[in-house]
Amino acid sequence: MVRGIKLVVFGRQGSGKGTQCSRLAAYYVVPHISTGDMLRSLLGSKLTTASWLFEKVNRFVQAGELVPDDVIVEMVADRLTKDDAHNRGFVLDGFPRTVSQAEALSKLLTFSDVDLAVELNVPEKEVLNRLLMRRVCTKCGENYTVTTPPKVDWTCDICAGDVVQRPDDTADIIKKRITLYNTQTLPLVQWYKDRGCFISVNGMGNLDVVTQRLIKAINDNRTRRSLVSETEVSETR
Ligand code: AMP
Repeated sequence: MVRGIKLVVFGRQGSGKGTQCSRLAAYYVVPHISTGDMLRSLLGSKLTTASWLFEKVNRFVQAGELVPDDVIVEMVADRLTKDDAHNRGFVLDGFPRTVSQAEALSKLLTFSDVDLAVELNVPEKEVLNRLLMRRVCTKCGENYTVTTPPKVDWTCDICAGDVVQRPDDTADIIKKRITLYNTQTLPLVQWYKDRGCFISVNGMGNLDVVTQRLIKAINDNRTRRSLVSETEVSETR
């Protein structure tokens, strides 16, 4: 187990990013911060349903569009000030999703920027299928895949919450979200490459294999970068 890291993870919807992020967070002993989960819990909260914030967020999430930066950046800024993230780091899942959000994150992290941005790479054709088959627990967020024959009144094995199709996992909205990923999020590859902290990891294969692949790629990159910075220090002596 390795303690402490500041990781940004992005990947197409349905790439398995949520599951892998929670595994990475457990491995590096840092909080898993998912903006999608934060928004869903905000929308599900009784306190929010009557508020201006609900109005401001709900229509974007339902339509599979990006929530305005002012809301999302403030939400993340607030979360990053909490002790766990402030002291140990984080795995950020679903943020940043655009170059302007990456710039905002950089400004928030005044002392040192993210250690690494990781793209979990799964081809578009594969994620389309996975999303159409995806069902989620409304209570704990656990993911399931549709069975044949389909289950009726499906409840979660972990918490007995209702297992349903996410309202934004319908064919039309999935297509819109994937197009948004290609146009708005993929430019982050170059943005983080330019800052020398980007890796792409193949997200195809079974969950455990992908987790091991991610951890190895992240740790190898950290070792390489710390060796480079040691060399730079000794060259300046
Ligand atoms: P996700 O669970 O990551 O697929 O996010 C679900 C929805 O939440 C997205 O389709 C957006 O409407 C919204 N969302 C999540 N993260 C962000 C973000 N960083 N910027 C804008 N909208 C977001």
